[in-house]
Amino acid sequence: RARPTAAVSVRAEISYIMVKPDGVQRGLVGDIISRFERKGYKLTGLKLYQTPREVAEEHYKDLSAKPFYKDLVNYILSGPVVCMVWEGKGVVATARKMIGATNPLASEPGTIRGDFAIEVGRNVIHGSDSPENGEREAGLWFKEGLVAWDQTMTPWLKE
Ligand code: UDP
Ligand code: MG
Repeated sequence: RARPTAAVSVRAEISYIMVKPDGVQRGLVGDIISRFERKGYKLTGLKLYQTPREVAEEHYKDLSAKPFYKDLVNYILSGPVVCMVWEGKGVVATARKMIGATNPLASEPGTIRGDFAIEVGRNVIHGSDSPENGEREAGLWFKEGLVAWDQTMTPWLKE
């Protein structure tokens, strides 16, 4: 009897990172991209995007029972967002640390929300909360696929 084939992951962990409409309006896109770029993660998806309602609803479907869900979806639809996928070791958890706590008043200074936000309903940025959701969200927001490329800097970043 054939054994089930083990799932082989050929690529490093990815996180779906999104500058929300307030971050775009406030001109924070460059600073935010810089932080991930300088950290050393690899960018494999990037676009400015006016979100279709179905995509916003699907993205936040786990929160659909929350009282803030309707306002949250409308917030995401209120202007263009910048969609990104960043790849590298531990990127999901590290990006969450770089982003800071959901409520910006609880986010440490030095984090993105800690530096740039006050209100939970205008907290500038999204980051995936697990590697599985990183894959799910990257697939939802980048139906056209990601860009596979080799960072020539890899030997300078990875031993
Ligand atoms: N949110 C909100 N009010 C709340 C909690 C969350 O408006 O009381 C919004 C906020 O924009 C947050 C998003 O819903 O970023 C998703 O919530 P989640 O708990 O997943 O926080 P995150 O993963 O973004 O830190
Ligand atoms: Mg979340």
